[in-house]
Amino acid sequence: MFTVGIIGRPNVGKSTLFNRLAGKRIAIVDDMPGVTRDRLEYIAEWEGKKFKIVDTCGYDLREELLKKEMIKQFYASLDEADFFVLLVDAKEGLHPLDEMVCNILREREKKFIVVANKVDNEKLQSFVADFYQLGVEEIIPISATHGKNVDILLDKIIENY
Ligand code: GDP
Ligand code: MG
Repeated sequence: MFTVGIIGRPNVGKSTLFNRLAGKRIAIVDDMPGVTRDRLEYIAEWEGKKFKIVDTCGYDLREELLKKEMIKQFYASLDEADFFVLLVDAKEGLHPLDEMVCNILREREKKFIVVANKVDNEKLQSFVADFYQLGVEEIIPISATHGKNVDILLDKIIENY
């Protein structure tokens, strides 16, 4: 089945987005980085197309050094998805780890889209431009907590189906 991996550094809102897409709170959302220990999967349907969404663990170099299991999980997730939502935090701006994972996705020739989360209001929209430094042509601004633009993201996923 076409599998979409939600990937990004800790605390960007991966689990929140997963919950939004899954329509229920089944992932663990927490303010502490690296809370998602287990991979969570959900079969979603959009425009009559079924696909699997995977909430990957966050990655944090310090965490990874301590928790080898998380590194394994991170790299395993790269092999298990056909398409990636690289989630970044518009409130925090571009982070070196965003660039790192973007480079890993490119090196491995993975298809992905950069999605800027926490764009809760129009004022935050201007922060999205920062992420064009990643060298991508398009960035989708969303708010996982408010559900804003999640339909546009789902359309994008289907385009790459
Ligand atoms: P993860 O580590 O990437 O899985 O991130 P979580 O989903 O656990 O979320 C980390 C924090 O960001 C939590 O406090 C969420 O409530 C918050 N968060 C997630 N999405 C949004 C959003 O769209 N807007 C705002 N303002 N906060 C968000
Ligand atoms: Mg999480």
